[in-house]
Amino acid sequence: MSRREVAQLIENMEGKILITSHKNPDGDAIGSALGWFNFLRKLKRDIKVILYDNVPYFYDFLPNVGKIVSSKRIDKQFDWAIILDVSEVSRTGFDSIPAKNSLVIDHHVTANPESTFAVVEPSMPSTCELSLEIMRLIGEDLIDYEVALPIYTGMVTDTGSFGYSSTTPQTLRNAAFLLEKGGINPYTVIKNLFERNRLTRIKLLQKVLETLDFALNGKIAHITLYQRFLEETGAGIEETEGFIGYPRSIEGVEVAVFFKEYEPGRWKVSLRSKGSVNVAAISSRFGGGGHVMAAGFEYSGAEGLEKLKEELFHAIGEALSQ
Ligand code: 5GP
Ligand code: MN
Ligand code: MN
Repeated sequence: MSRREVAQLIENMEGKILITSHKNPDGDAIGSALGWFNFLRKLKRDIKVILYDNVPYFYDFLPNVGKIVSSKRIDKQFDWAIILDVSEVSRTGFDSIPAKNSLVIDHHVTANPESTFAVVEPSMPSTCELSLEIMRLIGEDLIDYEVALPIYTGMVTDTGSFGYSSTTPQTLRNAAFLLEKGGINPYTVIKNLFERNRLTRIKLLQKVLETLDFALNGKIAHITLYQRFLEETGAGIEETEGFIGYPRSIEGVEVAVFFKEYEPGRWKVSLRSKGSVNVAAISSRFGGGGHVMAAGFEYSGAEGLEKLKEELFHAIGEALSQ
């Protein structure tokens, strides 16, 4: 669908509206969910935000974050579901989305969005920015502090503070629009997101960095989080956000990999590229997906982590030699 059609669809949405996003919500998921929640409330819509996982504490400064319900099940029936930053129902964590109609707004490369309607633009750096451009079509006057702050926050987190190659001149114009319209001080966002580390997180980082290892002559750097690290430090798995930046930052590294044991024997794998390898393509071979520079998948194969490493590094090696 075109953005204009989506804008019209949203303007005409009636009844009970559910907003949801992906498991392990990041700034883009939470920011777009709250941005739309606050925006649609101004249009007097009946809305609920339900996410499968808890919202990490460093997003607690966002307006109405307390209205987000974290639940493993959705019991009520809805007329509409707005599904943000994800196109597959399975990645929301829920078995199904109980809504008569659904709209996906996403920026991942997706073959088939699992919804009645969809706007999917992989060239957009974040779902928040795509959402903002749709909101601007509906009514710029509705974009106040409560809408601008979460949207700006998701733009910051998904672009690496406007540093990743996905950032465009228009992204910075949109950011400037939000600062002006919402009266936001950019340091408020940075301070809340990045300057409130809990000691548990730093202790976890210490343990995870001890696992740092290399493959393919230093072109791959990888780190691992074992379940026992969480018990030993008292940290939650959501406190690993950003850890992958350390192996990626090493000179000569082309691909960084972070293996996270989220349940005993079950692994969440994150990949980051510096550009020479399309990690979304690699991830999709392992049942996951994402973007060219940032992607991931889940693994719970019986052969274990060592076998996975062997296969994954081989796949990355092939991609690097092409
Ligand atoms: P992260 O490593 O931060 O969890 O995810 C990086 C990117 O990869 C995100 O854009 C996310 O949507 C995508 N991604 C991560 N894990 C999965 C997965 O299991 N399946 C799919 N399809 N995409 C994933
Ligand atoms: Mn996301
Ligand atoms: Mn995103």
